[in-house]
Parts: sequence; C-alpha cells; structure tokens
Amino acid sequence: MECNVPILDLQREYDYMKEAIDARLATVLDHQKWILGPEVAEFEQSFSKFIGVEHTVGTSSGTEALLLALRACSIVDHGKQLFDSSDEVLTTAFSFTATADTILRAGATPVILDIEEESFNLDIEKVAAYLKRSAKVRAIIPVHLYGRSADLTALKQLCESKNIIIIEDAAQACGSEWHGKLCGSIGNMGAFSFFPSKNLGAFGDAGAVTCNEQKYAEILRMLIKHGGKDKYNVEHIGYNARLDTLQAAVLLAKLNFLHEFNTKRRNIAAFYTRALEGIADLACPAHLSPGHIFHQYTVRVKNGHRDKLKEHLQNAGIFSMVYYPVPLDHMLVFKGKAIVPWECEEAKKASEEVLSLPIEPLLTEEELELVVRSVRQYFE
Ligand SMILES: *Cc1c(COP(=O)(O)O)cnc(C)c1O
Repeated sequence: MECNVPILDLQREYDYMKEAIDARLATVLDHQKWILGPEVAEFEQSFSKFIGVEHTVGTSSGTEALLLALRACSIVDHGKQLFDSSDEVLTTAFSFTATADTILRAGATPVILDIEEESFNLDIEKVAAYLKRSAKVRAIIPVHLYGRSADLTALKQLCESKNIIIIEDAAQACGSEWHGKLCGSIGNMGAFSFFPSKNLGAFGDAGAVTCNEQKYAEILRMLIKHGGKDKYNVEHIGYNARLDTLQAAVLLAKLNFLHEFNTKRRNIAAFYTRALEGIADLACPAHLSPGHIFHQYTVRVKNGHRDKLKEHLQNAGIFSMVYYPVPLDHMLVFKGKAIVPWECEEAKKASEEVLSLPIEPLLTEEELELVVRSVRQYFE
C-alpha cells in the first residue's frame, strides 16, 4: 500500500532537527559517560524549567515513571515499600494499559472510573461519588488524554484535606496547560513518557517524573538506581530505571523544538475542525484552546461508520489509529484485580467511535487537504 499521508513521520522530524541532534549525540560519543552522564542532569534542569517545577527525575520510560511515582507515594506518605490490595488508586477506563497496570505493580487496587463524553477525561462526578463511598483511596491518576488537560482544579478540591495525592499521567501532555500552568506541575507528581511517538520523543524508551516536593524527589532518585543513595548499601526495593544519557542528549536537542511543533499541531487541529464541519456522523474535538497540544487529533465517528472510514482512508494511503479499542475495565489483566464500581459506558462508546487522524506536525497543506477530501468523500 502506497503511503500518502503518515499519522506520524519521525524521519521527517529527524531531517528537520538533524544538526542539533547530531551535535548532542557526538558530544556523548566523545565523553562516553553512558550512565547518568552530564546530559541527564542538564535535561532534568531544562525540563524542570520548562514545566515549572522544582524537580525532574529522568526515568527509563513513562511506564516506570508512573510506577516510581506510586512507589514514592507509598514510601513517603504511607511508610511502606509497596501498597497492599486494600489501598486504592483511582484512574480512568480510557487510557493506555500502563496507567492502571502500574497500580497493580505498586501493590494497590485500581479503581476504574468512566470518562466524560466531551473531554475523554476522568468523570469528576464519578470521582466525587466514589470518594464519598471509600476512605481507602491513596492516589488519583488523571490522564490528560490526547493532550488535553483533565480538570485538575476540581480534582485538587476533591483531594484537599483527604491525604490523597494526584499523580498526573502527562504522557500525552508535554506542553499542555491548565489555567496557565503546565501539566505535570499541578498535581503532586507528573509522569511523562518520551516514547518516540510522543510530542517530545526520544530515540527509544525514556520518561520522567516531575514534582515540587523534595521528599518525593529524594526517594525517586533512590528508586531509579536500585533503591539506595549508595548503590552498595540499599534502603528501598528499587529498580534499574534511569534515563539513558544518549536519550537525554536527544531530548535536550528536541526540547528546543517542542513549542514550535506543538503550535504546528494546534494549527493542524484548527484546520481539520474547520474543514470537517457539518458532517452529521462525525464529531470533531470541541476544544481548541491554546492549552491543548493535540498529541492526537481524535474524532468520533458515529453510527458504526468508524471501522469503514478507517478502511476507506487506508485505501487512499492515509493512516489513522484507534486509541483505544478496548477500555481498561474490559481487559483480562484487570479482571478480578480492579474495582469497577459502575459500568463505564462512555469509555465503551468512545472505544467504538474514536479515530485519530494524521497529526504529524510537518505534514504539508496538500497532505492535510488529501485527508479532508478523503474523509468527506467517504460520507458523500
Ligand atoms: C505512552 C503512555 C504511557 C506509557 O509510556 P511508555 O514510555 O511507553 O512506557 C502511559 N500512559 C499514557 C497515557 C501513554 O500514552
């Protein structure tokens, strides 16, 4: 199949940033400090400044960032290495598996709640209702899905005075804003992924935890390297979960392009929304605020048209994706291990309707017009 429009084109992005990235990589090749080399600390400082937090701890992936944040909560706030199954962590039914399976890995029980129809994010009313019924909730993991921030003001209000911490899953929200502050700086901790396809992507797996409180940063720094300040005299059950020096070098180069690329994504989103207006069975994202960084541009395709539209686009060489086809409460891994207090009907509906269109920031006008033409052609 000829590919006319990719959903993402990392080769194109590399060509665009090649000089900056190659220079950073060459420096690492020269100094050969592969583990926690100078680029790691430099990236952590730059990222803290960018997000607006006191601390960034680089990690080996976004998944490990979530796990480490949960472990830091269990150690710092509850005085135990791992949670136990009576400890509950609330999260959304509509996310990537890692959001909830890290809760299991940290020893706690995930409580899976439904989403709001419009934002695809955690339904705040469901959170409020569950908090009235359970006193065992230790943390909440809101996901800023597709790059749009969850309602952190409401969540913070609900958690206030309850000793419940907020761990933002900001894997899709690198640069997203909530009322003038960047995602990852508002909850107690933020977990970022630099998986290659994320808005800030490394050349392999990488991630980070952000926070303002020293007490978390200190434990996180120990946990990424086996659990001790001294590698040969260890206090906590730790991991080998450091951010790689080479990845930090790539991230330092690419961080300088992030704002420009996020702006390009927003412009593509605005173009699509304008050009796809008025199709009865297609709903564009309602929200185009400057705080949304469009990790994905995701439409809802109604009345059973989603898979047929996807195939129609595929035949025209246009790639689109379904994030996510199976809500977490339907996944085998969580069966009998998660609490699902109410049926997650909106998440189920979303899993049947969503389709993410090509959002590569370097797509040309011709390519974008081809996408729009093909979508319109399907519905005509
Ligand atoms: C990508 C992603 C993760 C996992 O990040 P990795 O770096 O792939 O481990 C977690 N949560 C969400 C919402 C993601 O999109």
